[in-house]
Amino acid sequence: MSFCDLAVSGVADLQPYVPGKPIEELQRQYGVHDVIKLASNENPLGPSKAALAAVAKSSKEMTRYPDGNGYTLKMALAEKLRLSPQQITLGNGSNDVLELLARTFAGHGDEVIYSEHAFAVYPLAVKAIGATGIATPAKDYGHDLKAMLKAISPRTKLIFIANPNNPTGTWIESAEVQAFLDKVPEKVLVVLDEAYVEYLEQTESSVNWLQSFDNLIITRTFSKAYGLAGLRVGYALSHPEIADLLNRIRQPFNVNSLAQAAAVAALGDESYLQQSREVNQTGMLQLTGEFDKMGLKYIPSKGNFITVNVHTNAAEVYDELLYEGVIVRPIAGYGLPQHLRVSIGLEQENQRFLEALSRVLGRG
Ligand SMILES: *Cc1c(COP(=O)(O)O)cnc(C)c1O
Repeated sequence: MSFCDLAVSGVADLQPYVPGKPIEELQRQYGVHDVIKLASNENPLGPSKAALAAVAKSSKEMTRYPDGNGYTLKMALAEKLRLSPQQITLGNGSNDVLELLARTFAGHGDEVIYSEHAFAVYPLAVKAIGATGIATPAKDYGHDLKAMLKAISPRTKLIFIANPNNPTGTWIESAEVQAFLDKVPEKVLVVLDEAYVEYLEQTESSVNWLQSFDNLIITRTFSKAYGLAGLRVGYALSHPEIADLLNRIRQPFNVNSLAQAAAVAALGDESYLQQSREVNQTGMLQLTGEFDKMGLKYIPSKGNFITVNVHTNAAEVYDELLYEGVIVRPIAGYGLPQHLRVSIGLEQENQRFLEALSRVLGRG
């Protein structure tokens, strides 16, 4: 007997999510020191001082359960985004809300649409519940919304769209997203995953679309620009009835108290956010400028990372970079075996990566 035969259908075929290699693991396995990690799109600045202070204060209360309703954080978000707190669902990272959405609205026999080269959590969340994932072919590495519309069938429950997308960094213009929303049937829910929205030069906020489209759900996170990946906190914005449904199946204390306190503080720290954007813009230019000189093609990115074509087996380049003490992300699992995804780091980190890459590729 194999326990695989006992697992619910869908789970047995799953490939586990492959995270970026932790710094300590590389030190342990390769004996390399002075490691830099540009592999998980984390904020290279470290946490905001305001968030750190809030965590220190909140830690004194950690014998208590967290506020299961996340009252203070929801109020802070509601005020900032000019929404009602009833439209907000908090999650243990936005991954948690993505999963809640899949579990609430899809099941065996239902279809969920996402794009080729899109965020790996979508197929995981969908297959784990026995639903059918429909991956539409990408266009220029990004979402082909026309193809996604065509893929809608009577069984379609959900559509996941990452904007900007991870790992490709591609972005869909607001007008195009709106035209798409206009055409999606009311009973098909559209999840707009905006994990990197804070890095965009804001033109029009997608939050306004919630007024026109009851079937729209926006997910966001404190893991990227807000620099709190280790604490795990994200959220969904939606119609209150959808939030109510998600609330029924979430774990009662899914967001811990330190995370809630840190998120409230981070929301109020505009200067940290501004600095994060600046470091990202400068670093993006540093990396793309050097890729241009090296003759390496890359996918123009709106996120805090860039995906570069190394024109050879990227898994090998990744491995050689590890020996140089540089962790980046191979993305063969996303159907891109010649690309590496590199998170934008501080200037010295970017420089070390570029020098290591140039040595590794030069060795051929
Ligand atoms: C990083 C990322 C997330 C956020 O994950 P958290 O669980 O909030 O840390 C969600 N979607 C995409 C596309 C991402 O890249």
